Amino acid sequence: MSTYDPDNIFAKIIRGEIPSKKVFENEKVYAFEDINPQAPIHILIIPKAEIATVNDFTEENKELIGEIFLTAQQIAKEKGISEDGYRLVFNCNRYGGQEVYHAHLHLLGGRPMKWPPG
Ligand code: 5GP
Repeated sequence: MSTYDPDNIFAKIIRGEIPSKKVFENEKVYAFEDINPQAPIHILIIPKAEIATVNDFTEENKELIGEIFLTAQQIAKEKGISEDGYRLVFNCNRYGGQEVYHAHLHLLGGRPMKWPPG
């Protein structure tokens, strides 16, 4: 279980205290362009709920987790990258390379991705 800092960058983005380029929003999720894109399309899909890492998802979040993935799928379709393909990534904690401790799904596309990751 991670402590949730209500003043993390993504919490501020959800509250509109920091500007972001919105791609999609509903009552459960918010999607916006990454400020430092690692691919031609790099969008972050985040729950509005205060969840710090993937470790903090619970049984109660099952529907929310589905919402996050279906939002990514829909955005990929709208951006025209579904057929070529894309990558979805949740970084978790230090070894996973997580820098912002509000859970977020990276949607990366528009170029071929390498495997394995570094
Ligand atoms: P992590 O390493 O935690 O998985 O990913 C954090 C992501 O958030 C990074 O890709 C980084 O570029 C992005 N990011 C950090 N600060 C901001 C910000 O203020 N605005 C936006 N749009 N993205 C941010």
